[in-house]
Amino acid sequence: MGAAREARLIAVEERADAVFDRIRAFLTLHRLGPDPVHYAFAYHVMTNPTGALARSVATLTEGGIRLSTRDIEALGGGLAHQNPPHWGETLSHRGDDDVAARLVAQTQMHVEGFSDMMRSMQAETADFGRDLAASANAVRGAATGADVVRLATVMLDRVQSAESRLAAATREAEQLRAKLEEARGDARRDPLTGLPNRRAFEEAFSEQSLTGQRLCLAVCDVDRFKRVNDQFGHSVGDRVLRAIAAALREACTRHFVARYGGEEFVILFRGDDVEDARATLETARVAVAAKRYRIRETDVPLGAVTFSAGIAVAETGEPLCSVFGRADRFLYLAKENGRNQLCSNGTFY
Ligand code: GH3
Ligand code: MG
Ligand code: MG
Repeated sequence: MGAAREARLIAVEERADAVFDRIRAFLTLHRLGPDPVHYAFAYHVMTNPTGALARSVATLTEGGIRLSTRDIEALGGGLAHQNPPHWGETLSHRGDDDVAARLVAQTQMHVEGFSDMMRSMQAETADFGRDLAASANAVRGAATGADVVRLATVMLDRVQSAESRLAAATREAEQLRAKLEEARGDARRDPLTGLPNRRAFEEAFSEQSLTGQRLCLAVCDVDRFKRVNDQFGHSVGDRVLRAIAAALREACTRHFVARYGGEEFVILFRGDDVEDARATLETARVAVAAKRYRIRETDVPLGAVTFSAGIAVAETGEPLCSVFGRADRFLYLAKENGRNQLCSNGTFY
């Protein structure tokens, strides 16, 4: 064996001893038995002190708190067969019902895990290069066939392990992306009616106002809706809201219909002048007013449920709050004037 190679082997052994000492100190400090799960956990913390898992451990043990087996399980310690990026993923699940916050934490963890993996793969690639050079020297120096085969096997193992880790990380990233997209959609949808919510509406208005096309805004409010709830109960009220949402969506197919909140809906008429917008909304008003709701279970009639609306034209570049304020004033006038009607520019329809 050459002197340089011997020196490298000694260095490797010293590194292994140091790692082993640190693992033992970690297990002793936290009074954890040296079973494979604890050991593997400690190994990953000690060999990657700046990684996501080590950071989670540092947070949990801040102020001298001892790590428990439960903590290790929460950090994914029970999954000893998995790769390091999985550790730490479950930490954010603890007592946290906020899906968005959990997804953000998972994404962060995943990105960190991914960079950790890339760093370790880079280090391995460097080792690989060195081994390749050693192998070339060995072949030139007429080393035995067995030496060359051994080196080639080590290299092959590394490549395969790197490939499978990369494939697992890519799969995880894809799953996470799908979950994020779903959460993004949920955050912009009203769960009761399935319509876009106020947030989605505000975004749509900002986007549309940048295009410079003509925009009209209608604010609709269900008439005397409190009475529906008071007389028939909240769940019947909910069903009525769903039916009105469906009627608005059906009548205004080309336009952006959203539930603004409570019993209020907003419609963004894109490209239409105020007359077209009014005619479209009038169709919805007539359709809703013509319906005779009945309670499904008892067939008791609810009578008619109507809505009133105010319609305003947005000036070029006008902010939402300003055009909304105008439409809301027209809505108020429509209510004052007897409900079940539309008002635009002070004229009733
Ligand atoms: P107006 O014609 O002046 O608008 O009268 P109103 O009764 O519709 O107005 P008010 O603001 O007094 O009451 C609105 C009611 O809408 C009160 C609230 O309980 C009800 N509401 C708001 N959101 C929901 C909901 O999601 N489901 C149900 N069932 N009711 C809701
Ligand atoms: Mg209202
Ligand atoms: Mg109302």
